Amino acid sequence: MSKNNKGLLIVLSGPSGCGKGTMVAELLKRGDCAVSVSATTRQPREGEIDGTHYYFLSKEEFQQRIDNDGLLEYAEYCGNYYGTPRAEVDRLRAEGKHVILEIEVQGALQVKKRCPEAILVFTVPPTVSELSRRLHKRGTETDEVIEKRIAQFQKELPFVPEYDYVILNDALEDAVADFASVIRLELMRPAYVDLSHLEEKK
Ligand code: 5GP
Repeated sequence: MSKNNKGLLIVLSGPSGCGKGTMVAELLKRGDCAVSVSATTRQPREGEIDGTHYYFLSKEEFQQRIDNDGLLEYAEYCGNYYGTPRAEVDRLRAEGKHVILEIEVQGALQVKKRCPEAILVFTVPPTVSELSRRLHKRGTETDEVIEKRIAQFQKELPFVPEYDYVILNDALEDAVADFASVIRLELMRPAYVDLSHLEEKK
């Protein structure tokens, strides 16, 4: 637990099909991390549950959230809107959880502006053809959507220098270990270390 009893805010970006979901799922097993459930106007994929994978909203409902300042950030991605509900992030961090936002670049940069303490992590595949292979293997998108997502990833690459860390996701176990190392290192920053028990007694 941090000095001010607040958890880290960690942003994880990178193309879909790069194992972000699995990296997050592994970290959630630790018990001190939580993932923020985003809102989206995209249609649910098979097996996706409202309130667990996303809050699936209509365009009107999403706009309402924007108007009420209920989103920490939001962005349009491949024709759909995605956003982070602010209240949930604040609540989880206040509980001392390290909150992970699995979001794309525009949203990540908004978070960095609004919460300068946020840690930005970008994960990359070893090659573009490997990314394409993984997306085809997953089989949740049409060829056209896969093409769009790869093109989107290549548009995001110039923003990588805005991030704090880049994790290569070649072997998943290594990527998970690297992600855990980032959290470990960030928790060594003085702002997150409680030294009050070492202070001279008055
Ligand atoms: P997918 O449709 O594959 O679930 O997500 C598409 C992209 O939207 C991914 O890059 C994912 O990280 C991003 N995304 C998911 N939730 C949010 C969010 O709340 N805000 C933003 N800005 N991007 C998000």
